[in-house]
Amino acid sequence: MKGLVRKRNMLLKKLDRYSEFVRGSISSVCATCNRARCICQKTSSLRAYRLTYKDNQQKTRIVYVPRDQLPRIRKMIANHAQVRTIIEQLVETNIKLFKEETRR
Ligand SMILES: [Zn+2]
Repeated sequence: MKGLVRKRNMLLKKLDRYSEFVRGSISSVCATCNRARCICQKTSSLRAYRLTYKDNQQKTRIVYVPRDQLPRIRKMIANHAQVRTIIEQLVETNIKLFKEETRR
């Protein structure tokens, strides 16, 4: 059981490493007409980037992402995947602990 508590603490500490995370996906639109498929008379190749995610009401939200922040946002999305994996491991650990504690 001590091993399981230690494992839980280790996972919680690991969670700290990925604290900067967001949920969502990155897409790009034309910087001029704001459409995914440019409708400008003279097609522009300049793109604007945005993060699309659903808030806690399941409402779709869009956040514009400056080009120089793209690597950071990508990292934040990757961190979210890590956080989810760690939370799954925490659930498993807590279930094991619960079983051990209620076995007696
Ligand atoms: Zn356009």
